[in-house]
Amino acid sequence: MSKCYIESHTHAGMIPHAGFGIMAEKGIGKMVSCAIVLAARHAESYFDHFRMIDGFYRQLAASFGIELFSAVGVHPAGIPEDWPRVIDSLPEFINRDTVVAIGEVGINQISTLEKDVLRAQLEVAKNCNVPVIIHTPKENRPAVVDEMLNIAGRVGINPALMVIDHAHLDIIGQINDFGALPGLTMREQNLTAPVLVEHLDLFARGMMNSDYSNIMPNDPAGFVNAVEYMRSRQVDENLISALAGGNAAQLYGI
Ligand SMILES: [Zn+2]
Repeated sequence: MSKCYIESHTHAGMIPHAGFGIMAEKGIGKMVSCAIVLAARHAESYFDHFRMIDGFYRQLAASFGIELFSAVGVHPAGIPEDWPRVIDSLPEFINRDTVVAIGEVGINQISTLEKDVLRAQLEVAKNCNVPVIIHTPKENRPAVVDEMLNIAGRVGINPALMVIDHAHLDIIGQINDFGALPGLTMREQNLTAPVLVEHLDLFARGMMNSDYSNIMPNDPAGFVNAVEYMRSRQVDENLISALAGGNAAQLYGI
């Protein structure tokens, strides 16, 4: 397989300078940076964030030989009071060649506000016919996923455009039954390489990522360790290639 992996879910604005170097060294050639503005109060915070990632950080990544693509959207950990203004602007950002998805969006607490923001963003994804990256929380996961899939069903979005991220055994059945794609966040707190290898059939349509942020212990190229583990367990090279880049390349057209 080609040595170019795709980091399918990261947060470029939080990656340390050395982290970009490690990603490049480990063979990551492309990355998708998801939007997040923690505790955002104003729509402008998101507009500047989108421009910062697609402009400044795209250039920085390029200096390491990594092509950066972005996802744009309102993260549940920072919903501004004037969030509809961000939603209204999403089609304009999505028009750029380097913006490949809506995300990351989702629900943490099942509040009415979170549900409204998610629904609005799924409607944009449906109308623009673009993929959407959906976050799942740490707690109450099957119930939250159920709620999100109900909303998606009512919106009528094509399930094959939906990536349900931070997938694990607790929700993979719901994801597969719905026809969505699992995002595979490879780290101790989420999916580990041994669990993935033990249940490859369940996760085969997925896309690996490290979901790097600075809010927990983290490794910007952590998923490549899982790739190496899979190889040590003689996992089929075509499947490794799909999980470590091929599936993401196909969905995002990158
Ligand atoms: Zn994330």
